[in-house]
Amino acid sequence: MIRHYHTIRDLIAEYKSGNKTVEDTIIETFDRIDKVENKVNAFILTLKNEAIQRAKELDKTLKKSGRKTKGKLFGIPIAIKDNICFKNYPTTCASKMLENYIPPYNATVIKKLLDEGAIIVGKTNMDEFAMGTTCESSYFGVTHNPWALDRVPGGSSGGSGAALASGEVPLALGSDTGGSIRCPASFSGVVGLKATYGLVSRYGLIAYACSLEQIGPMATNVSDCKDIFDVIVGNDPMDSTTISKEEMEQYLKKSFKDFPNSKGKFTFGIPKELLGEGIDPEVKKSVWDAIKLLEDLGGSYEEISIPSIDYSIACYYIIAMAEASSNLARFDGIRYGFRSEDKGNWNEVFANNRLAFGKEVRRRIMLGTYALSAGYYDMYYLKALKLRTLLIQEFEKHLKKFSFLICPTMPILPFKLGEAVNDPLTMYLADICTVPINITGLPALSIPCGFSQGLPIGLQIIGNYYEEYKIFQIADLYEKNAHTKNTFPKI
Ligand code: GLN
Repeated sequence: MIRHYHTIRDLIAEYKSGNKTVEDTIIETFDRIDKVENKVNAFILTLKNEAIQRAKELDKTLKKSGRKTKGKLFGIPIAIKDNICFKNYPTTCASKMLENYIPPYNATVIKKLLDEGAIIVGKTNMDEFAMGTTCESSYFGVTHNPWALDRVPGGSSGGSGAALASGEVPLALGSDTGGSIRCPASFSGVVGLKATYGLVSRYGLIAYACSLEQIGPMATNVSDCKDIFDVIVGNDPMDSTTISKEEMEQYLKKSFKDFPNSKGKFTFGIPKELLGEGIDPEVKKSVWDAIKLLEDLGGSYEEISIPSIDYSIACYYIIAMAEASSNLARFDGIRYGFRSEDKGNWNEVFANNRLAFGKEVRRRIMLGTYALSAGYYDMYYLKALKLRTLLIQEFEKHLKKFSFLICPTMPILPFKLGEAVNDPLTMYLADICTVPINITGLPALSIPCGFSQGLPIGLQIIGNYYEEYKIFQIADLYEKNAHTKNTFPKI
């Protein structure tokens, strides 16, 4: 079974040595999916025939080339969040609105994965239009946390998190606008990275809030997470917010540097706003244990203060909802999306089509429209943008001094199913540790750092812009010493 492999590199080595075929892996993958999917519901769509077909082709190329392959993800099964366009297959955003949408093109990240030999095995469940923290608002039913089936896997990329945790796939893609990779990584006990804004192309990602979001990697260990990340980064002429070619060269040069340096020393800051009041004591304990371990490994830390964090939830939800209200305007049944019966005047038809959105999406479109409307724009949206600048300055000040910052990924243990979905405020407040990272555009990774009541807890490692390499190296060091690699629930 896939989950017994240490890393995808080990799996590729097996293909090369002839111990295993890609087809074997794909058959095992679908055996596993068939076994657990009725309990977990991680996928909206699975692509068994297509995956087997591609596996056979890859096996043939391997044979022809004398068992040599350069593909960094050669023959590796991967699950894709269902807001990322995969040509000729439905991309629904877990919404009735896009139930029948079939994109005629591939997202840039999909093209990159396929070029490196990855095999897409399905599209994963998510909160509708990526708006949520629990993966319960999907039109296609809730996803269950493989560690405790009566709990949420985290959202919005909950299907990707649950597919990894239940051993269905070794790799997945998610998207992160306010924590949607890191939250399910934390709640499902896997590794996930939200990169520096601009490092990964958003071309082909169905937009929720463009200035905040990035597509990113999720895996069951740091090495796999880095391998898939290395494949998807880079400049893209189709997304003008991506890093320039020259900057990319600088980034790559940097990423070969060793960190920590030869003396093995490093420094980190702990924002007191993210490890004090409002954080579950069990989460606090695990994070402090991780901090002590990092200290033993050569780190020295200081507690710091980033006062604007206290306003980050309000700031995030104003910006995210404002952008969402504009991004989702195209789904009117005329340009895109669900078309109701053409009854009544234009306004009525339009309004009926828009009823295909679920409750949370409607709430956000309405609040976002309100925040942008004349008279309120200055009071809400402009204020949120000012706070964004302040938060960037405060983070930058500390990241000049420290190699990285440490805090919990989620302030609480995974919600019980149904506990938060009808209580938006409780749900929004759970994003306190993740949203500052999207507001500032910084990179951050979530890695498992312990359990409470059998439920996983995640540690968040925040780095400076374009210093993902430092995050990966410290996460790798931590993972080796905390022995958190490839830990799976019994399911
Ligand atoms: N929970 C946050 C929200 O609902 C983050 C979602 C995301 O990152 N896509 O907006």
